Amino acid sequence: MFPKIMNDNNFYTPDGSNKERNPNLSDEDHYNDGLQFAQRERLPRAAGLACLFFPLAAEMVSKPMAGGWWILLVLWTFVWPHLAWQLASRSSDPLASETHNIKVDAILAGIWVALTGINLMPSLALVMMVFITTMGAGGPRLCLVAVFLTLVSCLATLQLTGIAFAPVSPPLTIWLTVPVLLIYPLLFSWVNYRAAIRMEDSRRRLQVMSIRDGMTGVYNRRHWETLLRDEFDNCRRHQRVATLLLIDVDHFKTINDTCGHDVGDEAIVAITRHLQLSLRGSDVIGRFGGDEFAVIMGGTSSESAIAAMTRVHDRLATFRLTSAPNLALHISVGVAPLTEEMAQYREWLKAADLALYKAKRAGRNRTEVAA
Ligand code: GH3
Ligand code: MG
Repeated sequence: MFPKIMNDNNFYTPDGSNKERNPNLSDEDHYNDGLQFAQRERLPRAAGLACLFFPLAAEMVSKPMAGGWWILLVLWTFVWPHLAWQLASRSSDPLASETHNIKVDAILAGIWVALTGINLMPSLALVMMVFITTMGAGGPRLCLVAVFLTLVSCLATLQLTGIAFAPVSPPLTIWLTVPVLLIYPLLFSWVNYRAAIRMEDSRRRLQVMSIRDGMTGVYNRRHWETLLRDEFDNCRRHQRVATLLLIDVDHFKTINDTCGHDVGDEAIVAITRHLQLSLRGSDVIGRFGGDEFAVIMGGTSSESAIAAMTRVHDRLATFRLTSAPNLALHISVGVAPLTEEMAQYREWLKAADLALYKAKRAGRNRTEVAA
């Protein structure tokens, strides 16, 4: 079945969790998204775990514990962050790989909470890291999964090692945990702040790209038509005059064929600039197709529109492109004032199109008004 209303929502599926495969993204976009996600985790994980080495080491010295645990501590706090990055960046699906790494983080956090005897300060720092990472990376669902993994690994480690419960942190452990509590949230927020700034920047760029014509910078046809529809509705509601113009470059195919497409492109840009310089700032210019432009002149009669186009014809008569000094640029213009009989904006557009056709048939390089 065809969609009832043609708009972008027909082709857009909201992505509730941006940590899952988004059907709107290409494989390459999905890969790049995942890589950026892994990159964002890299610095906070490396710095956070490096800082965490010291309070955990202080706890281990006070226990004391077997040499194997020391090796595990060094591997986890100094080697694992780099290994996690290598695993994610070399994976064909960095997003899935990094999500997996985050779950490993949660399991290891549970093991170390248990090994400290659930000592308050290091345990607090570990749980905070799990909360911040998982909530920031995957929302409540990933956070819940991670909490569950931390809890299970903690209970299993307690069961297997028989380590005694020792919740009270000595002053040295408290002081050594403070940097973790400060540095990890700070780094995590900073990295995500930078990512948010970058996303906002690309959102703005995309917004401009979606409404502007890339070559000339005036509105593209799709956006221009929505502006035309709004103007039509407003003029009908408030009984305002408005005039619509369709402009087509004369013999543009010949310009392309004889001077080349580069000169053709230059001609299109030059004509756009002449329109912008000759018309009012409130006139809405759009590129309608290849060599066709359209202008909405709100509050303007057809006589004023014709006078404005005479200025454009005069400018073009003396203008020459530097790359093709012998080439004269001419345009034909169809003018259609808004009338009572027009029931919808497409009829207005049709009237301008017929007027343009009349100008072409009458010999080009002229402006004609709809009958
Ligand atoms: P007419 O006087 O009847 O308008 O004749 P014409 O040769 O201009 O015919 P028409 O308007 O149909 O030709 C438009 C041509 O513009 C066709 C296409 O090859 C060319 N064109 C479309 N877009 C571009 C573009 O972005 N750059 C260049 N160089 N040419 C384009
Ligand atoms: Mg043409």
